[in-house]
Amino acid sequence: MPFTAKVVTAAEWGARSPEPGTFPFQRTIPRYVIVHHTDNQNPPNDPSTGTIEGALRFARIIQTSHMDERSWSDSGHNFLNTTGGFILEGRHGSLNAVKQGFCIQSAHAAQDPGKLANGNQSPGIENEGNFMTFQMGQKQWQSLVELCVSLCDSCNISPLNIKGHRDFSNTDCPGDLLYSQLPRLRKQVADKLGLQFMPEELENDSQVVDLKFSSTGSAVIKLQQRLRDRGFNPGAVDGVFGENTEAAVKAFQRSVGLQDDGIVGNNTRTKLGLS
Ligand SMILES: [Zn+2]
Repeated sequence: MPFTAKVVTAAEWGARSPEPGTFPFQRTIPRYVIVHHTDNQNPPNDPSTGTIEGALRFARIIQTSHMDERSWSDSGHNFLNTTGGFILEGRHGSLNAVKQGFCIQSAHAAQDPGKLANGNQSPGIENEGNFMTFQMGQKQWQSLVELCVSLCDSCNISPLNIKGHRDFSNTDCPGDLLYSQLPRLRKQVADKLGLQFMPEELENDSQVVDLKFSSTGSAVIKLQQRLRDRGFNPGAVDGVFGENTEAAVKAFQRSVGLQDDGIVGNNTRTKLGLS
């Protein structure tokens, strides 16, 4: 499937050039799609007023704030999704990179202790508004779905790896209500890509899904920490169930007389004291 989401490039909305010496930004291999909110007022007081002109203006305002107040080299995010359903490129080069299966190093999801790693190597979407209790409007939701479909497809990212900013950093972002709707977002994206998952796999932090190779999330972080505590080495505590974590799980399973299939189901979970 081609990259079908319609995106206004940084050049088209009149972005400032990045700080001298920082561009082009480093290309990265993305693993996640990361959902944010801008923490602005919601309609009818939304900064973009739901129009394309307002969207272009809002993109410029955010870039100015990121560069002049936070001293970042450019917009911190990769994409902005406004209340009118307009998608705008953030950091220069993001659109070209994701169309080719990459992302670029950005500044929207730094890792805090005990949280997922490598957020800034994956595309971050700023959604205009504050979604602690406010329900995103239909136009904005549809463009969010469209963008996620294109990103997951072109960058080979599983819809299960659509995460919220709070999975990476100590923050309320993207708001309690929007965060609670990430399972619905994953489902709609998966449907459009023709992928099927069990309902429990789509949840934010399912306690019942077996953890196995390529699983990600806070449950994997807990697993990796527990393996370390027990003297097994899962590699980095990064929330990604890779080869090192699998090897550590197998070694643990052998040590307690379980079949070493490398899958953390009920028995392994219990032996590790995780449930
Ligand atoms: Zn955020």
